[in-house]
Amino acid sequence: MDFSFSEEHLLIQESIRKFCRKELDPIAAEIDREERFPMEVYRKLGQEGFLGIMVPEEYGGSGSDLMSMYIVKEELCRAAGGMGMSVNICTLNFLHFISRFGTEEQKRTYIPPVLRGEALAAYALTEPGAGSDTLGMQTRAVRKGDKYRIRGTKTFVTNAPLAQYFLVVTRTSGERSVDGGTNFILERGMEGLSTGKPFEKLGMRCSPTGEVFMEDVEAEESRILGAPDRGFHDMFTTLNAERALGAATATGVAQACFDAAVKYAGQRVQFKRPIGSFQFVQGMLAEMATNLAVARTYAHHVVWLYDQGRPIRHEASMAKLFASQMAVKCALDAVQIHGGYGYIKEFPVERYLRDAKLGEIGGGTSEIQKLIIGRQLMQGVAG
Ligand SMILES: Cc1cc2nc3c(=O)[nH]c(=O)nc-3n(C[C@H](O)[C@H](O)[C@H](O)COP(=O)(O)OP(=O)(O)OC[C@H]3O[C@@H](n4cnc5c(N)ncnc54)[C@H](O)[C@@H]3O)c2cc1C
Repeated sequence: MDFSFSEEHLLIQESIRKFCRKELDPIAAEIDREERFPMEVYRKLGQEGFLGIMVPEEYGGSGSDLMSMYIVKEELCRAAGGMGMSVNICTLNFLHFISRFGTEEQKRTYIPPVLRGEALAAYALTEPGAGSDTLGMQTRAVRKGDKYRIRGTKTFVTNAPLAQYFLVVTRTSGERSVDGGTNFILERGMEGLSTGKPFEKLGMRCSPTGEVFMEDVEAEESRILGAPDRGFHDMFTTLNAERALGAATATGVAQACFDAAVKYAGQRVQFKRPIGSFQFVQGMLAEMATNLAVARTYAHHVVWLYDQGRPIRHEASMAKLFASQMAVKCALDAVQIHGGYGYIKEFPVERYLRDAKLGEIGGGTSEIQKLIIGRQLMQGVAG
């Protein structure tokens, strides 16, 4: 089995690292404190081609694979977790979704502004009463003549306060069934569509999050993405890729924790010795390095499976579950190694801890990942 990156992957890794050191590292603490999404950096990501990684070349992208996206997301999250999160919604949940399921007209209309970094996109699935229980969602799209009338509220929507485009999951028929879901591409400015104030969050604070309200929004049939009533099926295929990339958030944040912890352990002197010479501190570093390597290697394997066209349902959940838990533990250890300095904002590790926690909640909680894995393990065994 060959675990090495291709030339293209190495090139992407080198260029996104350079980009992050120059554009994100200097402002990461500030955008977290101010809860500001750095639109100027997002635009530059677009100009330098990082947003079109999985978009086919004929639509202006580089037609690359999920592994390339993993590399970009990990590096963004290593620098500023919220940036990686907001960008991922635009690239995977919006651009990749449209590249896969969109009509020619939809691709020509909606891909360019997001790919160039001129507009942000949002993906609206979660509702106030339906988080883990996605099929319990209540947003309805009812056909009236040649249009659909959409009514409902979505919450916890990344990018909602600033987004121009909203990929909204609705129900067009049935109740709680995996059939009967329909995805619509809506736009800011449509009558009846509005967004709430950005939520004040624990972590990922530079990524704006909020509600989307739809009060009888009228949408033409041409705004349906994919086939009507098949929306949940399309969504679940993208959700698996999203979960695999959930591991990229975790390995990115954990790498940042490890880097900071090693540096500090080498500099901080107590008892006339660098604290990194004490075995308890080395033990924490050794565990961080080991768990990070295991999480990343397995995540790469799952992403590789996806790029081979192979199914990754419980595998994606396993990668996300392990990596997210690992990142929280790494962040706790990084804070511990920093002692009192880990608890104040002068050092970045308290931010990493706040960012890491989202991995166990967003895109399906750790408990839901365990349910998916458990169900798969028991398939054909339990009655
Ligand atoms: C910062 C942020 C950004 C987000 N971005 C987006 C986005 O862009 N688009 C979007 O659609 N959503 C988004 N989400 C929503 C996210 O996916 C949900 O928060 C998540 O799926 C959990 O749903 P919930 O918050 O309603 O929690 P709940 O489902 O109410 O869960 C609460 C607790 O109960 C547990 N639980 C629930 N059901 C079970 C069960 N059957 N068995 C065992 N335990 C269970 C959960 O694991 C959790 O611990 C975002 C959330 C956050 C915080």
